[in-house]
Formats: sequence, structure tokens, C-alpha cells
Amino acid sequence: MMGAFSNEPMTDFSLADNRRVFEAALTDIKRLYGNSYPLQIGGRTVQSESMRPSVNPARHGETVGLVAQADRKRATEAVDIAAAAFERWKRVAPAARARTLYKAAALLRRRKHEFSAWLVAEAGKTWVEADVDTAEAIDFLEYYGREAERLCAPQPLVRLAGEDNEWSYVPLGVGIIIPPWNFPLAIMAGMTASAVVAGNTVVLKPASATPVIAARFVQLMHEAGLPEDVIQFVPGSGGEIGDVLIDHPLTRFVSFTGSMEVGLRIVERAARLQPGQRWIKRVIAELGGKDAIVVDRDADLTAASQGIVQSAFGYAGQKCSACSRAIIHADVYDEVTERVAALTRRLSIGDPVLQGTDVGPVIDRAAYNKIRQYVAAGKKEGRLLAGGGMDDGAGYFVEPTIFADVDSQATLAQDEIFGPVLACIRADDFGHALAIANDTPYGLTGSVYSNRRERLELARELFHVGNLYFNRKCTGALVGVHPFGGFNLSGTDSKAGGPDYLIQFMQGKVVSEKM
Ligand code: NAP
Ligand code: MG
Repeated sequence: MMGAFSNEPMTDFSLADNRRVFEAALTDIKRLYGNSYPLQIGGRTVQSESMRPSVNPARHGETVGLVAQADRKRATEAVDIAAAAFERWKRVAPAARARTLYKAAALLRRRKHEFSAWLVAEAGKTWVEADVDTAEAIDFLEYYGREAERLCAPQPLVRLAGEDNEWSYVPLGVGIIIPPWNFPLAIMAGMTASAVVAGNTVVLKPASATPVIAARFVQLMHEAGLPEDVIQFVPGSGGEIGDVLIDHPLTRFVSFTGSMEVGLRIVERAARLQPGQRWIKRVIAELGGKDAIVVDRDADLTAASQGIVQSAFGYAGQKCSACSRAIIHADVYDEVTERVAALTRRLSIGDPVLQGTDVGPVIDRAAYNKIRQYVAAGKKEGRLLAGGGMDDGAGYFVEPTIFADVDSQATLAQDEIFGPVLACIRADDFGHALAIANDTPYGLTGSVYSNRRERLELARELFHVGNLYFNRKCTGALVGVHPFGGFNLSGTDSKAGGPDYLIQFMQGKVVSEKM
């Protein structure tokens, strides 16, 4: 029996010992740069003719690993084999399945800095952001293990005389797991482990920017005792193999986290009945955001300015929860925008391998080019207050950039940019600020800074987002503390890391016996 869940503590990098150990991990993993990572299907290693380099976004000349690419034939085979493996895995006792997660959490805790070092190298995370990502992965393993034990036990029912009724949850079947690159350990591990601990087998297609971390996690799950045919590891281009994975008649559900465009495509394809298919495919889709921080007239302006900067520029703005709109009451607009710009100009941009770096690179050239277009558009749609510079000489670096006086309907205030670009919007009053906040197709996170109780209560009722924060930043959801997921086109509100999550990978079965 495991004790109650509690969150994994963060590493204190102000301590010299912790810094030394982390430096050593960063050096250590370099020995493994350039290693090859094959596909893994049915417990067998499958080589591929096509290998893709995964590069360090802070030094795009540096290859951190070579990763086999699945083609459509391999992708189809992976679903077939996962379906065969399901027949055995679904009969393994839930407590035993949970124990493989607890063991994986223990292994990951022991090798925490090694995994965080890979996050620095492959995803361009700063030390602190990498440490948080690894801690969250540990949390997901611990949390979903306990959730599986809770949900797989018989659930309470009303009693009827003369009958024995039992209600329990059983797994679904083969799940396709398609995570994004921005939490390449935590989200990937959480999506995979939740499906697996519920008794399903999966095909894991990692994001093409961060497959090495995923490969190393799959290896860790095997070390923890997970049978090797439970996770099929199938890296490859989503555009190329995504459709065959989704369309396969043996696919039972899809767990997707990524952009709105790809998510909606998956929802549509999964809805079509394929020859031989015997169920309605379930789709869990967590998508993008255009998250706002609202600053009221009588808020703590120091705290609000710091919260905006942290939420907008942490991990170079590449979080679904990142603040990309600051909506500020007209009475304090000039003061807040100036403070935010001043704090932003102090951020250090550079290679996150150095501990003092605040803002690392963006993930790849496509992201860099997309952000460049928005910065150019911003110069027409607003007044440049800070940043605006870009440099892709060594890595994909974008200065934290702030535009003031942006119209709430401008592209800069409506599109998810997914980079370090913040739009500041002036609001006439608090009600106007909330109306602007709600006026995008998304509804993921948001914050309100105010010292007036009635305003906070108004926001509690009207600010339509899945995760709403008061007087704190809008990023940094913790497993078990802040179950996470968005409204509207931000997704299916699956609430990852919460008590409603695991049930989505199971179905309830009731057995009634006449006595
Ligand atoms: P993305 O481009 O949609 O990619 C996500 C995943 O989908 C990748 O593994 C990608 O593979 C795959 N994919 C691409 N095309 C596909 C297709 N046609 N069929 C099936 N799969 C396909 O998103 P991203 O750029 O990785 O991630 C950023 C997005 O994720 C942002 O919109 C962000 O807000 C969102 N996000 C949301 C949450 C949340 O909890 N709501 C959390 C994190 C991120 P390739 O890499 O091979 O293209
Ligand atoms: Mg992408």
C-alpha cells in the first residue's frame, strides 16, 4: 500500500551541491549524443531506413540523437500488435499495473537530473523549467498509480434486496498517444502512463522535436517491469503516420495534446466508422490557448507585473498556459506596461545550459519563422515596448517581445503564437477587461490580479477558462492540486492530474446477480 500522494519537491539550485550534480549530469549525457533510437514494436527493436536527427534548439549544429522514423506500414503493424498485447495486459491486476508506475517514479526520482539534462539539451529548457518538467512526470506516475487502484476497486452502489450488484471500471483497448514537444517528459509520460495503468496498451508517437526523451522514458518503464509489448514506441512524422494510427479499426481511443488544427482533424477522422471497427472511438484532446492576465485598478502592481513576465516568458512562452495577453485597467495601464517592460528587459537570453539563463531558444526553425511573422505583424498592430530582436545564427533565439496598445481583435490578440510575444490591451473598466479576456475561441488558463473581493467573485463566475488563478501567475499547474484542462477550443477539459482524468481511459461495467 502506498502512502497518500504528495508533489515532488523542486531542486534548490541556490545550493552549490545541487549545482555541481546538475552540471555533472549535463556533461554526462553528452557521451550519448548521436546515439540511435530504434522503433520498438511488440518488444522487438525495429530498425528503419529513415533516421531523423534530433537537434539541440540552442545549438542547431548539435545532434543529440538519431531517431528511426516509422512509415505507414510500421504504424499499422504497431496497432495490430498493441491489440494482441491488450488481451494479456487487461487481465493483469490493477495493483500490479500501478506498481510498475510507482517503480518507474522511484527510478526517475533517482535519475532526475539525468532526465532534466536531456530536457535542457533536446527541448531548450532552463535548469528550473527542466527540473519542473521532470518533477511533474514523477507526480503523474505516482498520482495515476493511486487513481488506478481507486477506480479499479468496486465502486459504491445503492443496494437492492435479493441482488448482488457490482460496478467496476475496465480498460478500453488500444490507445494512440500523441503528445506535444513542450513538456516532452511530463505530458508525454502522463498521457502514456495513465492509459497504460488503466489496463490499455498503446502506440506512443512522440513529437518529432523531442523523441529522444520519449525513447529514454520508454526504456525506464521497461526497467520498472512494464511488459515490453504494452507500449509500442513509434516515432515518425505526425503528418505522415498520424492518419493511419487514428483511422485503424483496432484503435479504441486517441489521447492527443497539441495544436487546435491537428486536434480538430483527429476528432473528425476518429468519428468515421472504418470497415471492421466495432466501437465509437473516444478522443481526448487538449489543445491551445490564448491566455490572459487581467490587472484591476487597485491590484498589487508589483506582483501583477512579475506574474505577467513569468507567465509570458517562462520557457520562451512555449506553454499552452503562457500569458499572451495582458489586459490592464486604463487607470494603471501605463504604469503596469512600463513595469512589465522594465522587468522583461532584464531577462537574460541564451543557451539554457548556463544556469543564469532566463529565456532559452524556441523549439525549431518552423516555430522561429512563425514567431518572426507575428513580430512583424505586431509592429503594425501595436507599439513595440520591449524586444523584437531575433537571431538564428547558433540557435533559435527570440527576444522576449512586448507590444502595447493592441486591439483585442488584432491577430496578435487572437492567434496562439506559442513564443515569447506578449500583447498588452487597455480595458475601460473591470467588466470590459473580463469581456476581452473571454473573447477568443480558446479558454484554457487565466489570471486576475485584484484586491477587491467583489471583482474576484465576478471573475470566478464570468472568466470562462478551465484553470483560473487569482493574484498569481497563470502557469505552473501542479498534479493533484490544479487538475488541468481547457474550455471551448482549448479542448475536452480532460483535467490531467485530477480525479476525473483516468476514468476517460476506462469504461464502467455493472454485473447484477439474482440471489
Ligand atoms: P502539434 O503541431 O499539434 O503537434 C502535436 C503532436 O501531433 C505531435 O506529436 C505531432 O507530430 C502530431 N501531429 C502532427 N500532425 C498530425 C496529424 N495530422 N495527425 C496526428 N498527429 C499529428 O502541436 P505542437 O507544436 O507539438 O505543440 C504545441 C501545441 O500544443 C500548442 O498549441 C499548445 O497550446 C498545445 N498544448 C496544449 C496543452 C494542453 O494541456 N492543453 C499542453 C501542451 C501543449 P510531429 O511532431 O511529428 O508533427
Ligand atoms: Mg508542431
